[in-house]
Amino acid sequence: KLNGKNRYTVYSEELDGDQAKQSEEMVRNLQAAIELDQIEVYYQPKINASTEDIMGFEALVRWEHPELGIISPGLFIPLAEQSELIFPIGLLVIEKACRALKQWQEQFKLPLTMSVNLSPIQLNDKDLIKKINRIIEETAVYPKHLDFEITESEKFKSVKDALLMFKKIVNLGCTLSIDDFGTGHSTLDYLRKIPAKTLKIDQVFVKNIGLSPDDEAILDATIDMAKRVGHFIVAEGVETEEQRQYLTSKGCDYFQGYLFSRPVPASEIDRILTDREKI
Ligand code: C2E
Ligand code: CA
Ligand code: CA
Repeated sequence: KLNGKNRYTVYSEELDGDQAKQSEEMVRNLQAAIELDQIEVYYQPKINASTEDIMGFEALVRWEHPELGIISPGLFIPLAEQSELIFPIGLLVIEKACRALKQWQEQFKLPLTMSVNLSPIQLNDKDLIKKINRIIEETAVYPKHLDFEITESEKFKSVKDALLMFKKIVNLGCTLSIDDFGTGHSTLDYLRKIPAKTLKIDQVFVKNIGLSPDDEAILDATIDMAKRVGHFIVAEGVETEEQRQYLTSKGCDYFQGYLFSRPVPASEIDRILTDREKI
């Protein structure tokens, strides 16, 4: 919670003394990182399965620590969510991603899209819609090119309020993608209720192509179902040619994965798009 000096602290009561102190120190470091502009956004291309061209990007946050190097979001997003630092970090990612998108669209004359991950905690911000709208106006991106990746989560304060927020995002003109489908808390009921255009198949299922007949069956059924209800399908974590071929044969629309590109800094995307122009 915010205390008097505009500092954030962790409010988990389950932590013992030492752990709590450690977390508080990390939260202070993370807050300093925001102020020192050490929070950066990397971008991973999304590839159109039939044309093999880049259709857009997913923005993935990184903490560029001067001593520890690049810290992955898996390590600091949970802490940010507990300490409310997710609010400034979340907005910072949307803003940087929109600026980068606009620049690439204008420079390369391509109809690219940008997907940003939205934490369930961010939905508790009553002004979220206003803030997203302000960023859209300031960066002049078309809302239809801005996509938010959402997960179903036990972290929703209220599912009803979350659904309302999703509707408001769609009313802004933005699109929604359901992330990590097939794992955790994503359910068929969720798929029915969320006004999402796209479903992202979790990496676990892609990883098990050719290895687990059960997971292949789930994958096939998921793709079939998603297509029937009119969703686009993005397969995540595509690493091998075999996976790509399998997913293409099943009708996946878009790919994301190391086979095409890792998440890279904006400067690297500049280079990729420039090289693409030369072909
Ligand atoms: P996610 O949204 O499921 O993102 C996909 C993760 O898979 C990314 O990890 C990406 O680097 C990784 N990945 C992509 N292609 C491959 C592949 O071919 N093989 C393998 N093994 N991995 C691949 P990353 O960047 O470490 O992000 C981890 C998670 O952190 C994300 O999972 C997302 O839940 C969260 N995250 C990242 N950026 C943000 C953000 O800006 N805001 C929020 N709220 N969460 C974020
Ligand atoms: Ca995602
Ligand atoms: Ca995912």
